[in-house]
Amino acid sequence: MTTSSFPTIQKPDIKEMKVAPNLDYDKVRGNFDWNEMYGELDWLPGGGLNMAYEAIDRHANGRNRDKLAMIWEGKNGEKEQYTFGQMKQLSDRFANVLKSIGIEKGDRVFVFMDRVPELYITIFGILKAGAIAGPLFSAFGPEPVKDRLQDSGAKVLVTQPDLRRKITEIIPELFELQHIIVVNKDNRDPEPILSSDLSYEEEMAKAPPNFDIVETSQYDYSIMHYTSGTTGKPKGAVHRHQAVVQQYATGKWALDLHEDDIYWCTADPGWVTGTSYGMLAPWTNGVTQLIYEGGFRASKWYELIQDYKVTVWYTAPTAIRMLMKAGENIPRRYDMSSLRFLASVGEPLNPEAVVWGQEVFGMPFHDNWWQTETGAILCANYACMDVRPGSMGKPIPGVELGIVDDDFNPVPVGEDGNLAVRPGWPSMYHTYWNNTEMYNSKFKKGWYMTGDNARVDKDGYFWFVGRADDVINTAGHLVGPFEVESALIEHPAVAEAGVIGKPDPIAMEIVKAFVSLKDGYEATDELRRDITRFSREKLSSAVAPREIEFIDSLPKTRSGKIMRRLLKARELGLPEGDTSTLEED
Ligand code: AMP
Repeated sequence: MTTSSFPTIQKPDIKEMKVAPNLDYDKVRGNFDWNEMYGELDWLPGGGLNMAYEAIDRHANGRNRDKLAMIWEGKNGEKEQYTFGQMKQLSDRFANVLKSIGIEKGDRVFVFMDRVPELYITIFGILKAGAIAGPLFSAFGPEPVKDRLQDSGAKVLVTQPDLRRKITEIIPELFELQHIIVVNKDNRDPEPILSSDLSYEEEMAKAPPNFDIVETSQYDYSIMHYTSGTTGKPKGAVHRHQAVVQQYATGKWALDLHEDDIYWCTADPGWVTGTSYGMLAPWTNGVTQLIYEGGFRASKWYELIQDYKVTVWYTAPTAIRMLMKAGENIPRRYDMSSLRFLASVGEPLNPEAVVWGQEVFGMPFHDNWWQTETGAILCANYACMDVRPGSMGKPIPGVELGIVDDDFNPVPVGEDGNLAVRPGWPSMYHTYWNNTEMYNSKFKKGWYMTGDNARVDKDGYFWFVGRADDVINTAGHLVGPFEVESALIEHPAVAEAGVIGKPDPIAMEIVKAFVSLKDGYEATDELRRDITRFSREKLSSAVAPREIEFIDSLPKTRSGKIMRRLLKARELGLPEGDTSTLEED
C-alpha cells in the first residue's frame, strides 16, 4: 500500500473540536529540543529518573492523588477502580515484597498474567525496585515462556494459578528462577498454590505500604520485551527508564491525551503497545484509563465505550477489520458520542478502515507506526493534521525517519526503500539481551534499520509498503518463522518445516506451515490435526500455524537454508524470482 485513491480527510476547524489539539505540528517540529520535554518530567529527588515515579507517584504526591488512574472491568463483569494514590501504595507494597526476597537493581522479574489490576501494580513495583520488568503474553504456551525466562535469566516469575499450571513442566529447566509468586485474584482459583510458591496476597499483606524508590538513572534498564526476527528465537529488546519521556510526549502529541480524557488502549502488556501506551503514556499524562480483561466482542467493546464514556481509543487494524465485518448496525445501538479521537497501530491500516471510522464514529482512525525496538511512536497522524487514508503520517518532533536503499543511501522521494531511523531518539532500545552482535547489526551508515519497507511522498507523509524480511505479522503479533519451525520439528512425525505468512483479509497474515514427514508417516488429516494440537500446546494459538500443508520436500539453498521466499511465491502463484541458489533435488 503506497498511495491511496481515497481523498484526504481534512482536519476539522479547531472551533468544532471538543478540545484544541495539544500539538501544532509545523510549529513544534521545526525547532524541537528533547530537553524541553525532559523538563516536563518530575525526576527523582536524587536526580534520577524512574518510569513508575513519573507514571504514578508524581500524581499520587500531588493534586491527582484521588483521581482515578485505572477503571477495570474483569472478564466476568467484575468492576474495580484505583486512584493514583492507591496505585502508589500498592506498587510500593509490591516493591517491598521484591526487596524482602532479595531482588536488586538490574534483576529480571517476569510477569505472566492476564490483564488484571495486579499485573499493572506488579510492573510498577518491579520498576520501583530498580529491577527489569519482563511482561509475557498470557496466551503463550510453555515453549515461548521457557525461551524467554531462560534467555533473560529471570529470578522471579509473577503469575496466576491457571497459567502456573500450564507451565509446570518447564520449571525444572529454569535454573536461575528463584521464586514464583502466584496471584489468586479474588480467590478465583479454588486449588491451593504449590507449597514452593509464594502467595501474592499473603506477601502483599505483610509488606509495608511505603517504599523509597531505588535510585535509577535515565540510562538504567526498565522493561524488556521479546520480539521476533528473521533468524533464531525471539530476542529481548531492552529499554531504559528514559523511554518514558517519549511515551509521555507521544501520549500528548499522537494520542492527543488531555487531563479529562477516559482512555482505552486495547493492547495487552505482553506486547510493547500494552506497556508503552497501556501504562506509561496515559499515566504519565495523569489520564484515567479503562482496562478490560476480556477479549474481543464487537457489542461488548461498544458497550464499554458507552458505559465508561471513553474519549480516546487506541486499537489495532485486525480489531477494526473485525468491527467492520460485524457491521455498522451494532455501534448504532450504543451511544458513541463520548469518543473524540481514534488511533491505531501494529499493522498497516487499510484506507477503507480509516474512512469507516469517519463514517461510523464521525472521525477517522489515526494510524501510527512504531515497533518494539523503538519503544514509542515515531510516526503518526495527529489531531492537528489532515489524514491521508493509508498513510502512517509524519515523524514525531525530534525524530528523523529516512527511506534508504540496500546500500543505506537515501532514495528519491516517492520511491520504495528501507525505513530507517536516525539513532538517538529517547525511547530507543539499548540492546538485545545477550545478543549485542544482533543489536549492532541493526545500525548501518548512521541509520537504525527497522526491517520495514516504506516510501515518503512529497509532502512528507510516510506510507508503509511491507516487511523487508520473513517476519510474519498476524493480527498485530510478530511471529518469527524459525520459532514456529523449531516447535514443529519436535513433533515425532515431522522431518522438516517451513513457515510463511499467508495473506488474510482480517488478520493481515496467518501463519502457514509446510511440513515434510519422516519415513513411515502418512499425510492424513488426523496427523495434521495432531500436529496442529501439538504446536498450539507448545506455542499458543496466537503463534501456532493456522494452516499446515504436507509437502514431499522443502525448497532449500545449496547451503541448506529453507527458502521461505519460494514457498511464499508458490503459495501465492507469484514468479519465483532468482532461484540460482536453490538446491538441486
Ligand atoms: P512490534 O515490534 O511487535 O510492535 O511490531 C512492529 C512491526 O509491526 C513494525 O516493524 C511493522 O512491520 C508493523 N507495524 C507497526 N505499526 C504499523 C503501521 N502503522 N503500519 C504498518 N505496519 C506497522
